[in-house]
Amino acid sequence: MKDTQRGKVYRWEDKLFSHHGLTKGVKENNEMSLTQCNAYASMVWRKFRNKFYYNFDKNRITCRRVICSNHANGTKGLAYSGFYYVNRKKNYKKGKPNMYKKMQLPKWARSKHIIIHEVSHFLAPETSMHDKKFVGVYVYLLHKFLNFDLQHMIDSLNEAKIEFSFNTSPYLNRKFNSARKK
Ligand SMILES: [Zn+2]
Repeated sequence: MKDTQRGKVYRWEDKLFSHHGLTKGVKENNEMSLTQCNAYASMVWRKFRNKFYYNFDKNRITCRRVICSNHANGTKGLAYSGFYYVNRKKNYKKGKPNMYKKMQLPKWARSKHIIIHEVSHFLAPETSMHDKKFVGVYVYLLHKFLNFDLQHMIDSLNEAKIEFSFNTSPYLNRKFNSARKK
């Protein structure tokens, strides 16, 4: 699978952030602490995991948290695919392995808007990368949590010829339609 829209999505979000008075990278000393990033990413994840799309088998594992770090000194914000064991394999919750999602966040990326980009990767199907399903989730979450203008996002996506979909998920489609009416 090729990540065909990535460059377009990156350019689009740069403009979008500046339209809303933000920059992609947070300025030195304005970044959130890792504790704040963990709390924020986990809140968004918990609210919508397995809602827009299938994310994991909740009969087999439990996953309530996102843990952000930058142990590898990476330069990119990164949503790792898959799930990680909390405290190796010994930690069970209600008989199910207790897992977490992992995000790489260098200092420049410790902001709500970048965290929402990365959590959107967790909430879209695993194979999505920056495809239309990912963009649909991302747009909805930017509106929901940061109050970004829905119509502006849709118009600018169309203008940039970026594919996005809401109706590939009945739940997302309902949420989107009711947000649009407000
Ligand atoms: Zn991305």
